Amino acid sequence: LNYHVVIVGAGPGGCVLARELAREGIPVTIYEKGSFSQLGHDWSDLVEIEPLAAAGFEIPELEGNRWVGTLVKKETEDEGLFEPHAIPRLKLYSPDYQAVKEIKTGMITTDRRKLGQELVEQARQAGAQIYYHREGMQLLYREKGNSLEDLEVYGVTVKDGEKGECREVHADLVVESSGYYSILRKSLPAHLDLARHFPNSEFAMVHREVRLRDREKAKNDPLPDHYRYGYHSGYQWSHVHTPGKIDIGAGVRYAFNQPDPRDIIEEYISRHPSIMAYRVRGGRSPCIVGKPLDNFVAPGFLVLGDAASTSIPTTGCGTGSALMAGLWASRVIAEAAREGRNDLGKLWDFNRKFYRDGSRGAHLAALSAVRPMLQSLNHDSLNHLYRIGLLEGGELEKSINGEFMAPPLLQKLPSIFRGLSRPYLLRTMGRVLSLAGQIYRHYSRYPAEWEAGSFSQWKTEAEKLFSRVYD
Ligand SMILES: Cc1cc2nc3c(=O)[nH]c(=O)nc-3n(C[C@H](O)[C@H](O)[C@H](O)COP(=O)(O)OP(=O)(O)OC[C@H]3O[C@@H](n4cnc5c(N)ncnc54)[C@H](O)[C@@H]3O)c2cc1C
Repeated sequence: LNYHVVIVGAGPGGCVLARELAREGIPVTIYEKGSFSQLGHDWSDLVEIEPLAAAGFEIPELEGNRWVGTLVKKETEDEGLFEPHAIPRLKLYSPDYQAVKEIKTGMITTDRRKLGQELVEQARQAGAQIYYHREGMQLLYREKGNSLEDLEVYGVTVKDGEKGECREVHADLVVESSGYYSILRKSLPAHLDLARHFPNSEFAMVHREVRLRDREKAKNDPLPDHYRYGYHSGYQWSHVHTPGKIDIGAGVRYAFNQPDPRDIIEEYISRHPSIMAYRVRGGRSPCIVGKPLDNFVAPGFLVLGDAASTSIPTTGCGTGSALMAGLWASRVIAEAAREGRNDLGKLWDFNRKFYRDGSRGAHLAALSAVRPMLQSLNHDSLNHLYRIGLLEGGELEKSINGEFMAPPLLQKLPSIFRGLSRPYLLRTMGRVLSLAGQIYRHYSRYPAEWEAGSFSQWKTEAEKLFSRVYD
């Protein structure tokens, strides 16, 4: 096939896309600014099981609270993709620990370094070309007018990190999967939604530590896997990976008036003598939790994963969305390549798959409206909501697993009104959840095909709905 796809960024989204295109015999090149050994995170993440299975990974069997299978790490060694401990049911604690709910999770704790390296290896073996220390700098494009369809992306400038030289790489299609900095799409004309800068308010700051655990002291210091959801506008968790190893994490809204998540972790550790000082793995970074882009494509260009802000806004888990986006994009691009097309009408199928067919996008858009409201709740309000049962049942479970579910919560509101001394809080919650429901329905009606007028109308309505969230 005389159709060349260039992918910038070797994260899960870019790699799964490259692997699938290469398997279809489509020439594909990945440029990654880091090195093979730096791919992913230096810790294990909770990743959605369904997208991992869709991407071809053998999901282990659950035996009690342990995963069993060929890809599971053994207790004594660190090889393997998945951590052995399983959390089919996760304990959610209120910030003051006085209330606890159990929810089902559709997640498996996945070693992000191993996942990154495995996916890039699969892409390479399928025939994709991969270059490390190559940084995508800006898109090469022409403009015939002001509209999205008047744009034509024909390549990208790539900097060789070793030699310090830049060169133009031409392609039929450039895919940006470079994570939340998403430098390429921001080089497009500013009036296009594709060039939107993600504000600080759409980020969380996350800190993770994997520490050794003293097994003797652990006998008198039991630590359940838990998630203190809503703590300091984010979360604080601990997961016991193996009897001798514990993962502790915290995330907060990315804002000057929030505590440092590292301090939250230190405070937790100070209360648990079994957690040792030695840090096995870990790190910290901002994490995107905002609203997904309203459009992911332009002629000759497609953006996916964190670069398009598609993580679950209420948790920051974005690996599943990146994998699904890579798979959906591969089908659209493979067909486009066979037809020798890279126009907007053809690439629009990716938007349709994301927002309409799979409904993942509609859920994420709705949750992105709920997230700022949840983050605005102080500990006192959250403790109360947990205690009176407002955060009980399906809706919280759905939200953590990436799905929006409004009605049951809304139906509960009148009875809760009686139990709460702050009706203003509940009125705000009711208003935001009702808007989120409207957003969900609006995104489920995303234009199935590209047509400038109908997209512009749809977008105006979407903006109107979101502007009311922040009223
Ligand atoms: C601290 C933290 C904790 C998280 N925890 C979870 C979790 O528990 N579960 C979960 O599912 N998700 C989690 N996420 C989110 C998850 O990591 C992302 O959603 C996911 O990795 C997105 O995949 P991606 O393919 O879009 O991009 P990324 O994984 O971000 O990969 C982008 C790649 O592009 C490269 N790159 C960047 N710029 C350029 C450039 N200009 N040129 C070339 N290469 C470039 C980067 O080096 C990187 O390798 C977390 C994120 C953070 C930051």
